[in-house]
Amino acid sequence: MTDYMTLNVMQPRVLVDINHLQGGRYRQIECTEEGLRFGTLVRMGQAEDHPVIRAQYPVIRDSLLLAASRQIRNMATLGGNPLQRTRCEYFREVSWACNKRKPGSGCAALDGLNREHAVLGTSESCIATYPGDFAQALIVLDATVDTIGSPAGARRIRFAELHRQPGETPHVETTLHPGELITYINVPAGPWTRRSRYVKIRDRQSYQFALASAAVALHLEGNKVIEARVALGGVATVPWRAREAEAVLNGHVLDESLAARAADAAFASARAREHNAYKIPLGKQTLIRALLETQALPV
Ligand code: SF4
Repeated sequence: MTDYMTLNVMQPRVLVDINHLQGGRYRQIECTEEGLRFGTLVRMGQAEDHPVIRAQYPVIRDSLLLAASRQIRNMATLGGNPLQRTRCEYFREVSWACNKRKPGSGCAALDGLNREHAVLGTSESCIATYPGDFAQALIVLDATVDTIGSPAGARRIRFAELHRQPGETPHVETTLHPGELITYINVPAGPWTRRSRYVKIRDRQSYQFALASAAVALHLEGNKVIEARVALGGVATVPWRAREAEAVLNGHVLDESLAARAADAAFASARAREHNAYKIPLGKQTLIRALLETQALPV
């Protein structure tokens, strides 16, 4: 938020510090045989260091480890991280037209420099990329979020339903109501959690957002895929669950050829703009690599 205030993108009348809500209750990580439960104020670095997450949920560990810098991860919370907003330069510079920042003003990125913009889930109103990493791990593991403050009171939302594609209202980014607060993130355990991986491709290997990324979790019997879970980052307007790729993988022996077919399916609906067509082959190669590396994990 302070970032946007500095850039003059947002000018909130009031800022509320929630760090001391409920004592330390929202700073805890609960681990059971059923899965994980993160309090919303758990720090990214705290989760990335947790021995159970390191051993049993590598896709979560990797998604945290590859984000931002350790200094930022020591401060950033798990509840706040999935709600981070786009890095679109036209959104962050107030002299440009931007439907997300100022509804109805237009989208400067459509005919502008759009090398880093999305190829999946776009609209004629907005092509901004969702920038996070952790969210891809959450969507691939079928996480849910608990909230308080909606008109209906406390509720549980499937993580896959938390973010909204831009459509004609790109300024409405989530299904949260004004004043609604994420309190917990729940991650169910399954036969795919240990065999999971997050691969992130970026312009430099540190402190950079993804040009393409893939989160993969596999339940295998030998090399046969019992259940595949696939999500993509850096290429879409929201955390992107690639169900079409999963349908290609499920029930078949995983090899490079099958991984390539799954990658083709994942990007079948992709739409490139002038400068970001490279993201389609890059995204496919990222997914193929993630699938084969996940298959090779010594679980
Ligand atoms: Fe704004 Fe979206 Fe267009 Fe970027 S892509 S300028 S965020 S409307």
